[in-house]
Amino acid sequence: MSSFSYILLAFMWSCLNSMQANEMRLTTAQLKYFNSNALHRNALTWSGYYWPNSTLVYSVGKGMAFADYLLVMNAMADISARTCIKFRRTHNLKEPQVNLQRTDDGCWSDIGYLGEWQTLNLGKGCMQRGIIQHELLHSLALLHMQNDPRRDRYVRINLANIEEGEQHNFQIYHSDDFQLGYDYASLMHYGAYAFSKNEKPTIVPLKRGVKIGQRIGLSAKDVQKLRIMYC
Ligand SMILES: [Zn+2]
Repeated sequence: MSSFSYILLAFMWSCLNSMQANEMRLTTAQLKYFNSNALHRNALTWSGYYWPNSTLVYSVGKGMAFADYLLVMNAMADISARTCIKFRRTHNLKEPQVNLQRTDDGCWSDIGYLGEWQTLNLGKGCMQRGIIQHELLHSLALLHMQNDPRRDRYVRINLANIEEGEQHNFQIYHSDDFQLGYDYASLMHYGAYAFSKNEKPTIVPLKRGVKIGQRIGLSAKDVQKLRIMYC
């Protein structure tokens, strides 16, 4: 695929994404974790949401065509090749697993290992490696870059341009950056116009000339973060 096609796809995704209300599905317990004070958070530790043995267990569910599954396997293989993370398909219904499905048009995922059945949905428009990997990284317990507690030093959030009811997508969550620093190039960064109600940017990088919201693939720091978490 040409780089132009990638850019076009990435742009299309950011348009699609701007209409998508709940793409990163935190559980009530996870929201409670982020809303609790620092001491309580440390006691719980986010690492409880990492997959045991660095192995994400998944099953192929409703609506997934064989061609979709091949794309997902390709996306997984790329993550495995660059980290120690493994992906294992299961047919055992009792095992905790990410059920890959296509039951609605959205691209969305539960976050981290939940120790039960959890879901990753890949609707039409999500079947591109970078988007699949974005959702897989959510399943592996990664949040969005713009939720980082240090983000205000790197981007300006234009609250006035955000659709009503979507402000929660720009909330700060007290997650660890493992001293990697802010990453404009992250696959987990939203685009400049995410959830815009007026075609004006909602996220403006404070550094001139940088681009945000790429959906081509894992950035160098995305890879480093996964390695610190899992390897
Ligand atoms: Zn996301």
